[in-house]
Amino acid sequence: MSSPPETLSRHSAFHFPIPLRIFAMRRAIYPGSFDPVTNGHLDVIERARKLFDEVVVAVAHNDEKQPLFSLEQRLDLLRETAGRIENVRIAKFSGLLVEFARAQNAGAVIRGLRAVSDFEFEFQMALMNRNLNAAVETIFLMPKEEYTYLSSRIVKEIARLGGNVSSFVPGCVAKALTGKFRQ
Ligand code: ADP
Repeated sequence: MSSPPETLSRHSAFHFPIPLRIFAMRRAIYPGSFDPVTNGHLDVIERARKLFDEVVVAVAHNDEKQPLFSLEQRLDLLRETAGRIENVRIAKFSGLLVEFARAQNAGAVIRGLRAVSDFEFEFQMALMNRNLNAAVETIFLMPKEEYTYLSSRIVKEIARLGGNVSSFVPGCVAKALTGKFRQ
């Protein structure tokens, strides 16, 4: 048998050839520490999933950072809060982000931008990643205003001091934080 043609005639009865490339999935990676996931992260995931066929939320296994939650705990909290959202997948990764993106066949990396303070680091990382793999585009998404001051770091600090974090994180995360800081 000869090899398939460049276009597939799915509706051959109508002689209506559909180019194969329109079936290619548009996949994006949303990488981060997610230590732990906050309502800000969830806001970015919601925005990203409307732009792509699939969003892979990729939890970084990074030996240099000392996370409060283990990799498995961070993954579990994400599975509980975002794991059932249609076209969102939770994964872990280590090593170079662009290599992970390549392995996942993803053409984009999503990052959240909250304030000018995020910009310098994000800019540097996006350009470096472009240098390593020009086929992967970084896309910045802004959360709702009320989440622009929200970070995992600040949420952990409030929880450590006994404050109420229930309006910043999903219920299971608030519970996990209380558990961590209970005497
Ligand atoms: P990292 O260690 O990679 O910065 P984080 O979990 O802190 O991991 O953040 C992952 C991504 O989510 C980053 O792009 C960060 O800017 C973004 N992000 C974190 N919190 C928020 C928020 N409240 N609103 C929008 N984006 C956010």
